[in-house]
Amino acid sequence: MSRVLIIGAGGVGNVVAHKCAQNPEVFTDIFLASRTLSRCEAIQKSVLELQGRMIDIRQIDADDVKATTKLMEEIKPDLLINVALPYQDLALMEACLAAGVDYLDTANYEPPDVAKFEYSWQWAYDDKFKAAGRMALLGSGFDPGVTNVFCAYAQKELFDEIDTIDILDCNAGSHGKPFATNFNPEINIREITQNGRYWENGRWIETGPLEHHVDFDFPEIGTRRAYLLYHEELESLVKNIKGLKRIRFFMTFGEEYLTHLRVLQNVGMTSIEPVEFQGVQIVPIQFLKALLPDPASLAENYTGKTSIGCLIEGRKDGKPKKVFIYNNCDHAACYREVRAQAISYTTGVPAVVGATMMLKGHWKKPGVFNMEEFDPNPFLEELAKRGLPWHVQER
Ligand code: NDP
Repeated sequence: MSRVLIIGAGGVGNVVAHKCAQNPEVFTDIFLASRTLSRCEAIQKSVLELQGRMIDIRQIDADDVKATTKLMEEIKPDLLINVALPYQDLALMEACLAAGVDYLDTANYEPPDVAKFEYSWQWAYDDKFKAAGRMALLGSGFDPGVTNVFCAYAQKELFDEIDTIDILDCNAGSHGKPFATNFNPEINIREITQNGRYWENGRWIETGPLEHHVDFDFPEIGTRRAYLLYHEELESLVKNIKGLKRIRFFMTFGEEYLTHLRVLQNVGMTSIEPVEFQGVQIVPIQFLKALLPDPASLAENYTGKTSIGCLIEGRKDGKPKKVFIYNNCDHAACYREVRAQAISYTTGVPAVVGATMMLKGHWKKPGVFNMEEFDPNPFLEELAKRGLPWHVQER
């Protein structure tokens, strides 16, 4: 018996609501609250149609700590699942502490006015969560999220020593639009246009944006070009995977996407600095977001697959070993099941699996944690059952 409050009625929030509704044994009461009530209503209707369950919906501004605390005092959830934007993370953690509720998210905090993300702001809440006897689970999406758990599983079950990890994220799907992002355009473009960064032999090495690439043969997809980015799970994995010598993150982009991005950058449309236009202050990237397709709207005609995994090298029983641990996910199958595309699906399902771990007590202790700090086995077992089967391929 548990009550869950989902914050954020976007592409990921839709998947989380559907997947919670599919599992009434764990999620007995489901509340969805977001900034725009009409988006909650649309999800409520779709969950009722496809899963036959009525979820409760509310309007909330998640930046308002008092309002969210009051909402939680009224509905008394056991857990808050934050799938709004990274800007809301700290306000929602504050509200959880005030209302005495556990917390889970899928992306680390970013200040709106600086294109920078790191865990320090959220890790700083560890003492407060411990003192309150509450738990916060950070980054329970796919990457971060499942990728962290794959690394923990490799450390526990597959290797004696791990030398290198490359996280590889491929979207080989096609949505028919010349340019669109698969999750929130503002967050996505901020991430890609930053400098790249990876970790080797104890230090961080900075690269230009998309300066390095590799060509990687993804299972059932084939060879795709993937570009080196900085990604948040690198920061915690460097701390938690023992003996690591190098870790990098790569994501695939098509030529068409990169050309559009270059042009938008060159004309200043990806900037987060406000400009004055006809007497009004506008932030170019926020205006661009208003013009681009809503990521959830891509779902209906999306075809092809995603393939995300960890290429890990090291030794087992004195012999060299190299594996790719991965999941492939089909866009059209996600649409049939929960009216979503695979990027939202591969984020929303792990959020619900992380929630299940906390609510069933498999992962449960006071403090602020990253995914690889817990036993990977029950999570991976549940993940496969809930729609994301995973595989270990010897390379
Ligand atoms: P969307 O932009 O589709 O949805 C975000 C939702 O949050 C919208 O409904 C929005 O409201 C709502 N929201 C924004 N600000 C507030 C606020 N102040 N108060 C209440 N609600 C608010 O994003 P996605 O669903 O694509 O992504 C959700 C999260 O998942 C993001 O944090 C993203 O970074 C993360 N993510 C993580 C991944 C992973 O693998 N770990 C991969 C992909 C995404 P409105 O409808 O009014 O705009």
